[in-house]
Amino acid sequence: MICTDCNSRRVLELTAKCSDCCGYSIGNLSGDGYVPQGLGIGGGDYVEFNICLDCGQVQGQFPRPKSDLEQDASDEDIEEFYNNYFEEGERIGFSQNRGNVRSHLYDVKQSAKDICQRFGTWIEEFLNENNGSPYDKETGVNAPSIEKFIQMYRNNNTDIDG
Ligand SMILES: [Zn+2]
Repeated sequence: MICTDCNSRRVLELTAKCSDCCGYSIGNLSGDGYVPQGLGIGGGDYVEFNICLDCGQVQGQFPRPKSDLEQDASDEDIEEFYNNYFEEGERIGFSQNRGNVRSHLYDVKQSAKDICQRFGTWIEEFLNENNGSPYDKETGVNAPSIEKFIQMYRNNNTDIDG
């Protein structure tokens, strides 16, 4: 292989199997698990890329489109999520009539992650901060309005009373 930038033949071709032990970040967004697709570094089980040992150029097509990590939720996505799991003024996490509490919380978190990674991470923190005991209505915090909920997410704030 010849470097597309400086024509050097000293191009390192790398393949590494890390499976789901991949950690990565872009700015203050971070993720872990399998190797992310579409970034020019392999994907799935494998980290794979070629780098010129003379000029440092990573070989391949750039710029790349936005990765999953960088996607954000629309107001409509958030509103639908909120309507599925919260009700204004109702205790967060108090799950009377909601069946198995643990699997319900798992559903809430999973459904947030399905929207995008950023929203999933925020919901995790939001629940950690505001979730009361599922068996005791006196604990926990009341759900804010949908407008405030969206605003809190956009401001990366998880403190309802703050
Ligand atoms: Zn080069």
